[in-house]
Amino acid sequence: MLRLTEIRLPLDHTPAALAEAVREKLGRPPLAWQVVRRGYDARQKRAIKLVYSIDAVVADEAALLALGDPRIRPAPSMRYDFVAHAPEGFEERPVVIGAGPCGLLAALLLAQMGFRPIILERGQAVRTRTRDTWGLWRRGVLDPESNVQFGEGGAGTFSDGKLYSQIRDPLLHGRKVLTEFVKAGAPEEILTLSKPHIGTFRLVSMVMNIRAEIEALGGEYRFGTRMEEVLLDDSRAVRGLRLSDGSVLPARHVVLAPGHSARDTFQMLHEAGVEMHAKPFSIGVRIEHPQRLIDAARFGPSAGNELLGSADYKLVHHAANGRAVYSFCMCPGGKVVAATSEAGRVVTNGMSQYSRAEFNANAGMVVNVGPGDFPGEGPLAGIEFQRHLESLAFQAGGGDYRAPAQRVGDFLAGRPSTGLGDVTPSYRPGVTPTDLALCLPEFAVSAMREALPAFGRQLQGFDMADAVMTGVETRTSSPLRIARTDLCESPNTPGLYPAGEGAGYAGGILSAGVDGIRVAEAVAMAMLGRELPP
Ligand code: FAD
Repeated sequence: MLRLTEIRLPLDHTPAALAEAVREKLGRPPLAWQVVRRGYDARQKRAIKLVYSIDAVVADEAALLALGDPRIRPAPSMRYDFVAHAPEGFEERPVVIGAGPCGLLAALLLAQMGFRPIILERGQAVRTRTRDTWGLWRRGVLDPESNVQFGEGGAGTFSDGKLYSQIRDPLLHGRKVLTEFVKAGAPEEILTLSKPHIGTFRLVSMVMNIRAEIEALGGEYRFGTRMEEVLLDDSRAVRGLRLSDGSVLPARHVVLAPGHSARDTFQMLHEAGVEMHAKPFSIGVRIEHPQRLIDAARFGPSAGNELLGSADYKLVHHAANGRAVYSFCMCPGGKVVAATSEAGRVVTNGMSQYSRAEFNANAGMVVNVGPGDFPGEGPLAGIEFQRHLESLAFQAGGGDYRAPAQRVGDFLAGRPSTGLGDVTPSYRPGVTPTDLALCLPEFAVSAMREALPAFGRQLQGFDMADAVMTGVETRTSSPLRIARTDLCESPNTPGLYPAGEGAGYAGGILSAGVDGIRVAEAVAMAMLGRELPP
């Protein structure tokens, strides 16, 4: 099979035109072909192109490869091969902490390999969790154990469900993640679109379907169960876990996938001597514009075209003070959501439904920070920095989970907002017009003030005076990294396998799932006493 890339056709091409382009590229009719990737190139608004990758079968593959055309290559294998299977009657069970995308994929793989994992999740099963999460958004009531960050499905459950990533994925594990998502109910198009998304509602049912498969394979879930202590033997190897109900669960192989908001868990692990280090992340705000403004700026006369959908954007500006300001986790046609997991704090993030049909576009607009910016020293210093900003935002919002917000025009002029304009903020339970400089460091404010007009030049209208900024966005990635070896094991706590976003090895749903697969493979091999293939 051959992979043909960079087949470009106008937005309004016919199916026959694509078949003809494939034939032309090959110089002969293929025996069979299928689309494996479809993206678009909107750099020229008046001549937007669809860009295809195609897998084609021809009789004389070698002759075509001999031409040396970099856009005609052997098609990579899309099949996932398990690294191991548990022998019949294998008794030891691995434990997976966290049922976010990383823990879910790790548990699913371990279950498919016959290891019957036990999954510990501090939050609730996804239906109960949905109700708890709406409690904050509708009534301003936070459940610190069941919310946007904690519960079945993890942090990405109430999200835009973007399923792409720029990680290196030489083993094509991303394909395995997407294939499992399709089996669990995601639309098949996620296997071919270059920037797939699934939105919140589908994620909820997919997570339940994955649970059903894990349980059918002998896995076991324990919701409302927080891992509170890692019990070690004399050589510091893991021998068990103390759980929030006081019980002890014996365990020798533990996947640790707690996400980036498990601050109490990080503290406990640090106190237990598990090696970890502070790492850079980003802070800033969510910014909202009318989606139609973004569509027009990106797609010009093709705005509204069904194949293009609601437009996204990606912006970067390098500020004079040395900071990078960039757009983060852009949600077309979505909502800004309250994403705190701790009482007395305000955190923003974004979500949307599959249709991406809400009135506003939103994205994080964030500035990089590193250990040198954190108050204090040590691996947990970034958490204290986050907490400080989140508490300032809580106060500036009025102390009742409303978030501080400011018009871009006022932010640029350095004056507090006293009201809002044409863009209605979507954040619930509501916003308080104020001055965002009250809850962000000066270097971040000045970098963003410089970036906004620059972004306006990259995307017309981005710096419109009535665009709304809501703060603060602090949970962009983990503020620390838990060390691990090439075999994915903690170097000083054997049996502990740090994984996913919280441990510092992923950023987003897809990359967290890919890391979950990688760690599940390492755990399976370790349980069987075998070496992981390179
Ligand atoms: P998490 O998803 O955070 O899961 C960790 C789980 O561990 C949680 O369920 C938590 O309750 C549990 N846990 C923590 N501590 C313990 C403990 N001690 N004991 C037991 N359980 C514990 N990414 C994208 O790629 N696309 C998007 O569109 C997108 N949108 C997002 C929107 C929102 C609102 C948010 C908050 C995030 C979004 N993300 C998105 C980021 C994405 O959700 C994360 O990168 C991803 O979920 C990380 O996966 P994870 O499994 O590593 O951790």
